[in-house]
Amino acid sequence: MTRAWNFGAGPAALPEAVLKQAADEMLEWHGAGMSVMEMSHRGKDFSGIIGQAEADLRELLKVPANYKILFMQGGAIAENAIVPMNLAGKNPKIDFVETGSWSTKSITEASRYADVHIAATSLNPKAPQGKYTRIPSVSDWHLRPDTAYLHLCGNETIDGVEYFAWPDLEALGAGHVPLVVDVSSHILSRPLDVAKFGLLYGGAQKNIGPAGLTLVIIREDLLDQAHPLCPSAFRYKTVAENASMFNTPPTYSIYIAGLVFQWLKAQGGLAEMERRNIAKAELLYQTLDRSDFYISHVERACRSRMNVPFFLADESRNDAFLAGAAERGLLQLKGHKSVGGMRASIYNAMPIEGVRALVDYLQDFEKTQA
Ligand SMILES: *Cc1c(COP(=O)(O)O)cnc(C)c1O
Repeated sequence: MTRAWNFGAGPAALPEAVLKQAADEMLEWHGAGMSVMEMSHRGKDFSGIIGQAEADLRELLKVPANYKILFMQGGAIAENAIVPMNLAGKNPKIDFVETGSWSTKSITEASRYADVHIAATSLNPKAPQGKYTRIPSVSDWHLRPDTAYLHLCGNETIDGVEYFAWPDLEALGAGHVPLVVDVSSHILSRPLDVAKFGLLYGGAQKNIGPAGLTLVIIREDLLDQAHPLCPSAFRYKTVAENASMFNTPPTYSIYIAGLVFQWLKAQGGLAEMERRNIAKAELLYQTLDRSDFYISHVERACRSRMNVPFFLADESRNDAFLAGAAERGLLQLKGHKSVGGMRASIYNAMPIEGVRALVDYLQDFEKTQA
């Protein structure tokens, strides 16, 4: 059996060491006589697993004491409704910055719950390829001072646009406005100053673990702003008061996420992951930039280190490109259907060797087509 290099955007590759450990512990976990999947979520074994996972995540991200970590379900798409129900329940006004497909989805969903205002957008509807390729300059953001919160997508998984600097809302006269960020596809790829944010959320299946787990990190003063019709299982205050056990949490996904957190600590933590992710992204973008055969549209300052969309200048070669890649064990390189072209997702679990294999293929394919 050989494992391919998996460039899928999500569910995405997991560290091999984590999968091996999970395989070893699959039938029987640490003398418990059963698999983690079969345990009571209220028993002492699972309480230890979720407690350790939370403690490790807190340590990795240096989460301040006045923030709660919630293990939820429904994915980031459910959070697009759950966040408005929780944070805009008393003041139904939400501002957004639109930078790609995922922030657009968040806007559409939130508009069912609140009055939505687009403070800035980078949409270029006339572009034939790459309708979102930049982040609007913060000085051009027009925030409503009385908005419940400002929502950003930290890394646009489909369009490949990533924030590397966070806006100074104080300078916009909006220092009191909580910043809410969808971090689904770049959480844990680098250190993050959690204290800058009111709430962070993300689905686990990009850079944390298996699908089914959704992570929410929320400042405590925001816990109790929910609309009365918000379902109890999705009410942050209720989930926090019950230590993510108001209903049965996705126990196996939490266990795997916990193994990933331990793996990250063993690698040297998030500063080390950032160093590796920079090296991987630079290698790939440099290769794309070196030739006219490949095109990358995203502005350099906000090119995602996690998701690298690119196009062949001659798109009639797309199928040949993908077939040749698959022959070398380079899988899931096809771009999202809304953008087209190719996309290489290179999350934490993708080692530089995988990116080298892709870069070699990019160069070889270009030569054979010359
Ligand atoms: C994948 C993704 C989502 C959707 O997550 P689901 O788990 O499918 O709900 C939302 N936002 C971003 C940025 C994503 O990458």
